[in-house]
Amino acid sequence: MTKELKVRYYKPKSEFKLDIDDIQNFVYDMSRCIKCKGCTWVEHTYMPGTKYTTRCPSATKYLFDSYGAYGKMRIGHAMAEGVLDWNEKALEIMYACTLCGACDVGCKRNLDLEIGLTLESLRVKAVKDGVGPMPAHKVMTEKIVKSHNCYGADHKKRREWVEKDAAPSAKADILYYVGCNASYENKGIARATAKIFKACGDDYMLMTDEWCCGNKTFSVGMLDEARSIAERNIAEVRKSGAKMLITSCAEGYRMWKVDYPKLLDISTDELGFKVMHLLEYADQKLKDGSLKFKKSFDARVVYHDACSVSRLCDPWQPYEGKRGWMGCVEPRLKRRRGTSGLYSEPRNILNAIPGVEFVEMPRTRENSFCCGAGRGTEEAFPEFSSWAADQRLEEVKDSGAEALVSACPWCKNNFTRAVNAQDEKVQVLDIAEVICAAIEG
Ligand code: SF4
Ligand code: SF4
Repeated sequence: MTKELKVRYYKPKSEFKLDIDDIQNFVYDMSRCIKCKGCTWVEHTYMPGTKYTTRCPSATKYLFDSYGAYGKMRIGHAMAEGVLDWNEKALEIMYACTLCGACDVGCKRNLDLEIGLTLESLRVKAVKDGVGPMPAHKVMTEKIVKSHNCYGADHKKRREWVEKDAAPSAKADILYYVGCNASYENKGIARATAKIFKACGDDYMLMTDEWCCGNKTFSVGMLDEARSIAERNIAEVRKSGAKMLITSCAEGYRMWKVDYPKLLDISTDELGFKVMHLLEYADQKLKDGSLKFKKSFDARVVYHDACSVSRLCDPWQPYEGKRGWMGCVEPRLKRRRGTSGLYSEPRNILNAIPGVEFVEMPRTRENSFCCGAGRGTEEAFPEFSSWAADQRLEEVKDSGAEALVSACPWCKNNFTRAVNAQDEKVQVLDIAEVICAAIEG
């Protein structure tokens, strides 16, 4: 007689939502961290040696477990369960972190825990509990409210970068979102981007009244303020009739593509326009033959994968479901693992430029080591921010590169500071500037 096989089915029952507004959505993730430290170390199979093996700037700098994602998960879990309250150190630990997402992709190679969202949610909790953000963040976010840029600069001067030979049109399919940095600090990146559009035969327009994207407001946990910036900016772009929004700023790209939809509980596809980074645009134009490189750029070049155009830019899809035994969820959840990052585009572009000798650093793509500038770090922890850029610069120097190229103006600033402080000869450039040089010479 055959024995009847009984299959027990554990029906998922605890409800949760990928919503950073409520830390309770991430108690499971925090409680299941097993301290394996996959969030700190790059798997040895990806590493050519032993010199550059850490992925977490925070844990590498502060050399204490609390600063790693595993420490933050333990602290956050205790807080969410009501057995630990905020104190000065806990607050510092939550903000002395570049929200670079390296821990998230590292953890998801093993465990599928939502570490990145949890870290964002813990900052939201800090603000809701009345302890966050850090004093320097408050100064910066007030500037954004008052002058619509993070520098507190004159809003009327936002378009001063525009030059006659590559001026915007009143109406175009492409809307170039410039961002605060390229509008005020690295105007050369904005000018180069405008020239690239023209060289490819495209017109572009600007927002009638461009405001800061609110990246820093969002990143320090001020969700309500960031949400109202997102609503205003999205409405402006929809009103403009643009088919695609292109930005040359990595942080801005992530905001528009991922965090605006996250804030408004919609998917990236529901924005009503396509969000692209200049990297995607230039790569497409190169492939269809509209972008041609006539001049040579003679240098040994490395490319730094900025976090927000790599592991942090998978499109956003709202999720609400139930979790059960062993963390199984219903309905199926497509995890964001950093696999939609813009990894091949910059490499295709740089390799197509005559004279470029392209070399890689040990930590590339999802395993790239953050420059330390972003998401409120340079404002509240300038020394940590500079330290991270110095660390990355060591890797650049070891590669023998003469030029360090990134696709983010914030990376450019931070690496330039590091190069100047060390009196190094490495040229720090944005990819827009390199493309422009190869078009114009
Ligand atoms: S990789 Fe994930 S599970 Fe492992 S220590 Fe880090 S956060 Fe915890
Ligand atoms: S986001 Fe970056 S700095 Fe922060 S804990 Fe994760 S890996 Fe470390």
